[in-house]
Amino acid sequence: MFTEILDYKVFGGTKKELLDCVESFDKVNIISGNPEILYSGMKDEFLNKVYNDESAIIIPDGVGTVIASKMVKNPVKEKIAGIEVMGEIINKCEKEGKSIYLVGAKEEVLKECVTNIKNKFPNIKIVGYHNGYFDLENCDDIVEDIKIKKPYALFVAMGCPRQEIFIARNMKEFPCKIFMGVGGSFDVFAGKVNRAPEWMINLGIEWLYRVVKEPFRIKRLGVIPKFLWKVKKNN
Ligand code: UDP
Repeated sequence: MFTEILDYKVFGGTKKELLDCVESFDKVNIISGNPEILYSGMKDEFLNKVYNDESAIIIPDGVGTVIASKMVKNPVKEKIAGIEVMGEIINKCEKEGKSIYLVGAKEEVLKECVTNIKNKFPNIKIVGYHNGYFDLENCDDIVEDIKIKKPYALFVAMGCPRQEIFIARNMKEFPCKIFMGVGGSFDVFAGKVNRAPEWMINLGIEWLYRVVKEPFRIKRLGVIPKFLWKVKKNN
């Protein structure tokens, strides 16, 4: 079910199998393993520990990670986009009467995101939310609120490594089952940023759409060849 890429165990099953696998954990931290995230873990000891922790599942979120799995001759069954997993978890929580909590993004984006989630999943219990612009060293009020509200799933959209730090520091204390850093996903739920059209997603060129829409991302793409080169060298 897992593919070894560099020193990571990347989930190799389908999205449906992932949701079943998540159930088998007491607490799980779902990591959206695109090349940028995985490469950052090669350079940073803290992130490396987070990604390799026994409570973590790394999903192959990105065509670069899928290519890497082919290079190590143990291809993952499919690319699994973090934002889709977030949607599936919300859907499951709605059906099962479980609650969610959202931390991240700008206040107005977060509010739109909450409204849109409620419209799409009318019975979902959103027990709390907070924007992502606060001092990580001084956020006891947010931490306490999450402890009191006891959400089943906590989604944190503050970009890497901020979201990983917030989750890792509090995971033991928080009474949640599912933790997930979701990067820019609240912006997508809020309708501020669109996902690429279906045909581009299917062709594996969603990254091209994002670069055209947000050109500052082009620099960040440089990490893909570096990551693949490392995979090749290690193989
Ligand atoms: N963000 C935040 N707090 C910060 C910095 C960023 O909540 O201190 C939010 C930002 O508003 C955006 C998300 O984090 O909603 C990060 O998006 P980005 O596109 O960088 O993430 P990616 O999807 O590339 O990981």
